[in-house]
Amino acid sequence: MTRVVLERGRERSLLRRHPWVFSGAIADVQGGPAPGDTVEVVAANGLVLGRGAFSPRSQIAVRMWTFDPDEAVDGALLRSRLERALATREPVAPEDEPAGRRLVNAESDGLPGIVVDRYGDHLVCQFLSAGAERWKGEVVQSLEELLSPAGITERSDSDVRQKEGLGPATGLLRGTEPPERVEIREREVRYLVDVRHGHKTGFYLDQRENRARVASHAAGRSVLNAFAYTGGFGVAALAAGAASLTNVESSAPLLAHLADHVALNGLDPARVESVEGNAFSVLRAFRAEERRFDLVVLDPPKFAESRSRIEAAARGYKDVNLLACQLLAPGGLLATFSCSGLLPTELFQKIVADAALDAGRDARILSRMSQAPDHVVSLAFPEGSYLKGLLCRVW
Ligand code: SAH
Repeated sequence: MTRVVLERGRERSLLRRHPWVFSGAIADVQGGPAPGDTVEVVAANGLVLGRGAFSPRSQIAVRMWTFDPDEAVDGALLRSRLERALATREPVAPEDEPAGRRLVNAESDGLPGIVVDRYGDHLVCQFLSAGAERWKGEVVQSLEELLSPAGITERSDSDVRQKEGLGPATGLLRGTEPPERVEIREREVRYLVDVRHGHKTGFYLDQRENRARVASHAAGRSVLNAFAYTGGFGVAALAAGAASLTNVESSAPLLAHLADHVALNGLDPARVESVEGNAFSVLRAFRAEERRFDLVVLDPPKFAESRSRIEAAARGYKDVNLLACQLLAPGGLLATFSCSGLLPTELFQKIVADAALDAGRDARILSRMSQAPDHVVSLAFPEGSYLKGLLCRVW
């Protein structure tokens, strides 16, 4: 039997069903498990805590599959976890199809390292850990049986695979190839998702509800959409009646994709301006030109990739939020986000407060935002909650 024996006292987090065993918590590895193998996890006093996937190269040396010492880790267990993940989520109303939804949210659904997103009839999966990689075949089989998708595509090309000693893996796993761009809709807005090359599995599904919320404030306003990607927020705002839309994005192909979204939704391209460049310098240039906007959306990429980067990340968020506050017309709205899970929500709020203060602006929170509910958060795994946002009125 392959076993991992913990240092004294290090069982505490597992007794609270937190799914990670850090390498520093391990006293002994027995039976020579290979990467991805199932190991029994045992407290120093001999208490069996459950079973997990062994990953010797990662700082997270074991990711737990089960906290039940009697439960075997096999295809049946994975299938029941998948069934539970599907049953956890609210069904999608027929009028909301074709939908983009997260069906499986890794650790938060008891399936460490496994992400499954649905874009219409197609599934896009990520297998991000050694254990996830080991059970890929069983997971794909169950997904096919449970959901009968047109096709299942793999996008295991996230950098986190390297920490597990795994290279990238992409391509069709089952069924038919997805179209070059898969159409989804959010409320009345249509988007095209490039599931082969887009970020993550193709779209920032976590911002779905926030796009709708921001759009509900957009009518008649001039909107600045910084870090635009393919225009999620901006196109929703324009469809909701924004007077004008200015997008800032460092990638030119993404801005071309954004223009396709404007056309697809029958919106007026004359109301859209797209600026390719670094948002920090573009916003600074706008400030120098004394441009003003009624609604500014800031949805930057993850600035804090590791604990050691939190301070630098905080400076980045402060800078860009300061610029946004300076660009807002009196009474304008700031929708500002951070997807850095390592940055605490209170610290993010403080950064935005400091930015408003430095800009000499008086700001108050209209609403707090987080990730869409299909990106479920397990109470045992608070790390699963990473996206935070503030909608502020800025005077
Ligand atoms: N709001 C988008 C998602 C934004 S993701 C949506 O709802 O779909 C962040 C985007 O910022 C990415 O498209 C990335 O290419 C872009 N980006 C990263 N660094 C940037 C920078 N310094 N300046 C401008 N854009 C940047």
